[in-house]
Amino acid sequence: MSLQTAARKASEIGDLIEFRLDCLEPAEFEKVSSSLAQFLDSLSLKAILTFRPTEQGGHRAADYQSRYSFWQDRLSQGMTELFDVELDIAAGLVSSNTTLPAARWSHIICSHHDFSGVPANLEQIYEQLANTPARILKIAVQANDVTDCLPIFRLLERARSERRELIAIGMGAAGIATRILGPSRGSFLTYGALEKERGTAPGQITAGELKSLYQIQKIDRQTLICGLVGMPAMHSVSPHMHNAAFDEENVNGVYLPFEVRDVASFFKRMVHPRSREIDWNLRGLSITAPHKSTAMEYLDWVEPAASEIGAVNTIVVGADTLLGYNTDAEGMIEPLNKMVGDLSGLRVAVIGAGGAASAAVWGLQQKNADVALFVRDQAKGSRLAERFQVSCLPLSHALLSNYAVVINATPLGSRGAAISETPAMAEQLRGARLVYDLVYNPIDTRFLREARKAGCETLGGLEMLVAQARRQFKLWTGKTANPAVMHAAASNALQGQS
Ligand code: NAP
Repeated sequence: MSLQTAARKASEIGDLIEFRLDCLEPAEFEKVSSSLAQFLDSLSLKAILTFRPTEQGGHRAADYQSRYSFWQDRLSQGMTELFDVELDIAAGLVSSNTTLPAARWSHIICSHHDFSGVPANLEQIYEQLANTPARILKIAVQANDVTDCLPIFRLLERARSERRELIAIGMGAAGIATRILGPSRGSFLTYGALEKERGTAPGQITAGELKSLYQIQKIDRQTLICGLVGMPAMHSVSPHMHNAAFDEENVNGVYLPFEVRDVASFFKRMVHPRSREIDWNLRGLSITAPHKSTAMEYLDWVEPAASEIGAVNTIVVGADTLLGYNTDAEGMIEPLNKMVGDLSGLRVAVIGAGGAASAAVWGLQQKNADVALFVRDQAKGSRLAERFQVSCLPLSHALLSNYAVVINATPLGSRGAAISETPAMAEQLRGARLVYDLVYNPIDTRFLREARKAGCETLGGLEMLVAQARRQFKLWTGKTANPAVMHAAASNALQGQS
């Protein structure tokens, strides 16, 4: 894509355009440099010029002197852009004999980047930036854990109280909350990539996603914050479903992914109203693998159904307490009921022995279905089977034709390495009435294709995904989300991933 085309596309989405001059090939850099002023004049939006050296995460090896000369040249011209100048250069400009007029400093973003983590002296670095005459300060540090967002949000509070304009970003997937919520907490701006593969920093989401998926222009201090806690969480379609529902129901809310490794510290420092270190309007969390069981330890109350299943997938954050629910079981049953009606006495085979299998068995038993488990690991399967008093049979070569419904509660067939796998072949399924795959990404799985080959009716996991999400939405907002809106949002997002 030419620079002109990129600029035109960026101006359709952004409010400012950052030009990462260090990302240009040397020949293009020379060409652009010679006609930069005219090029910038032709833009409909204001630009930020950045020329980041490799040691600050940039793409161009440039020693101090060449960077200094580059900025001196740019700053001596009467341009109206913003200039992202690293702290060492800003310090050099301060101490040089040729003093820069105050008006020029009002165009400077004085920045510091750390791609290894959050430095222990973050506040001191902020003070060093603040001691330059630059109008805007910028700190971008690598968030290696979601709790690394805390010092970044604290810095934004400090800048606000000191009436300084600050851009504070936590880079990496763990820092995504700072990118989405930063502006509502005073960050001068947030960065979005033009396209997914054109991000210039780790964890950068696209400007299109910031605007249309997260609607950051609408987020304020009152915005209800919900999110998905998982590892990984970044490619989930839950933000698409819940944000579409917030929009449709006119709820001032945003739903974002939280990639969390250490659940204990996340719950203590960012979630629990009695111990968290951040003042935010957190309302609810979805919990996904691998945290559905461990999250229960940090809750003040767990609904009986979730205790019996042994997993929570939903948390409601109250004024003082955390409440746990499981919406998977009912979410699994709802579409099944629609397809086959009364489940009472129906023979159902559930494949798998993990969290989804546990919710499925519990839900089916509530409807008096006759359940049997099919597993690869007999020891693990037997433990679940004993808990629910159901039979447990080996999966390999299992004949499933005697079951009215066969449910896949394993990840077999999911996007990625397992996409071409199936827990059963057509010959094993022939005779079953309905085959239900809880896997929803991809929407059409190998298991469903085998089932169609065997002449069975099929049901994909997307219906369950929407049904469980609607229950979560109700718990967080008291409102009933339109299933068609959530379904369309999820299926569009899934199609975009294929
Ligand atoms: P989990 O707790 O990790 O359990 C996975 C189960 O699958 C385990 O019992 C595991 O066996 C079994 N398994 C894995 N690979 C297998 C293989 N090659 N052959 C046979 N069995 C295998 O995961 P989960 O939370 O239950 O989730 C399972 C699936 O359900 C996931 O794909 C998830 O996306 C889907 N799900 C969908 C929804 C929805 O809303 N549609 C909701 C929840 C979950 P071992 O016990 O031997 O390890």
